[in-house]
Amino acid sequence: MYKNLINGEWVEGARTTRNVNPSDTRDLVGEYAQADAAQAREAIAVAQTAFSGWSLSTPQQRFDVLDAVGSEILARRTELGDLLAREEGKTLPEAIGEVARAGNIFKFFAGEALRPGGELMPSVRPGVGVEITREPVGVVGIITPWNFPIAIPAWKIAPALAYGNSVVFKPADLVPGSAWALAEILSRSGLPKGVFNLVMGPGSQVGQTLVDSPLVRAVSFTGSVGTGRRIINSCAARQAKVQAEMGGKNPLVVLDDADLDVAVNAAVQSAYFSTGQRCTASSRIIVTEGVHDAFVEKVLAKLRTLKVDHALKAGTDIGPVVDEKQLAQNLRYVALAQTEGGKLAFGGEVVERDTQGFFQMPALITETTNAMTISREEVFGPVANVIRVRDYEEALATANDTEFGLSSGICTRSLKHATHFKLAAQAGMVMVNLPTAGVDYHVPFGGSKGSSYGPREQGSYAKEFYTTVKTAYTAAG
Ligand code: NAD
Repeated sequence: MYKNLINGEWVEGARTTRNVNPSDTRDLVGEYAQADAAQAREAIAVAQTAFSGWSLSTPQQRFDVLDAVGSEILARRTELGDLLAREEGKTLPEAIGEVARAGNIFKFFAGEALRPGGELMPSVRPGVGVEITREPVGVVGIITPWNFPIAIPAWKIAPALAYGNSVVFKPADLVPGSAWALAEILSRSGLPKGVFNLVMGPGSQVGQTLVDSPLVRAVSFTGSVGTGRRIINSCAARQAKVQAEMGGKNPLVVLDDADLDVAVNAAVQSAYFSTGQRCTASSRIIVTEGVHDAFVEKVLAKLRTLKVDHALKAGTDIGPVVDEKQLAQNLRYVALAQTEGGKLAFGGEVVERDTQGFFQMPALITETTNAMTISREEVFGPVANVIRVRDYEEALATANDTEFGLSSGICTRSLKHATHFKLAAQAGMVMVNLPTAGVDYHVPFGGSKGSSYGPREQGSYAKEFYTTVKTAYTAAG
């Protein structure tokens, strides 16, 4: 039984939950403690007490902790990748890649802890000096989704600690295993007791307590639009900082002059790998008419070669869908797309394998328009649709015609169109001749419009959220 971490102690919760492998539902990953609201309040209180010490820790202390955590994650990437693939269902190579990303993020923020910055400048008044410094915010509540069980926690926890905050971390219900493993590494990293706390438990109790507690000065959330918007409103009402990364409906534009192999690879990679369960997945593939049919043919040829199977099986390209509920949602969207006039050109159906898992063939829906539900709402599964357009201008307008704005891609050999698209795409991240999913760990991540709220995550830009600015004036006494 895996317990919660509060004030450096492993404590039982109000109840437990079973963590089941979506590739094989007979495989129990473990039983995990579930905190209630009272235990969440206890974790917040100890984090508040621990903050006073950690906020005054030296850059060297912070570097040592984060560097040690990063080194251990990297050294154990295969073992932790195996655990991640077992509980979430991405393939083992994908899972090992995610773990390595988490390790590199801790290493990056170890370095950032040594570069807190600050400015010194003369006042406009004679004899007065001005100092501008950054201070930690206080207790940070971290609430994460299930689709990146270690990388998303890492890209929130590492900067929170690097800039001197204390943390209460609530992982997603479906993936407590990677969260627990990360907490266990942090518990041996030299952090003072109470600086980092893990409270696994339901969003409605543990998550809501973090959002509502006056002691939690900042909430960093990644997850669905509905939950995110409620959290943004609650935090704003009590003047807490809030950062929310939410859904996407990411377009990939393919122009007549694209290198078709590059375009097909970008589309298949970002629409279907990691079972399409990435907020940056391409789900609307917008193709100009000169190349539309040839592009679709090539995508179909590629899809026929992909193996859907157990995430840990060698040779699997696409693992299972995360759970039964998500699978049902994917199937509903595939059916609805056809009802609204789309043509199911490939896949979409549930398939059986040697083990009892949630296996679904990647679905490609053609003959769709941007007005159909399949083009408007996030599916969050291995489902993509193709929209035929006349030219670049219509492609750009279609790409931007969405309430979301996370990642937007274009495949073209035209410098003119690539340059214009980078300027005009309404998205936080733009990809040229690359999949819309798959980003670096040392640069900012985030979206525009309905996808994101608050300062960017990752890279040195993370400090905007995890610090506040103080301006001090000094005159010779
Ligand atoms: P979700 O919104 O259901 O849950 C996210 C987290 O919020 C979970 O830990 C959940 O327990 C918690 N939560 C639920 N109710 C809460 C409440 N009332 N108060 C506080 N916390 C609460 O999302 P999910 O299903 O876990 O993840 C899938 C979604 O995440 C997709 O929409 C996807 O696009 C999004 N996502 C976005 C990004 C991004 O960076 N933009 C990255 C990954 C996933």
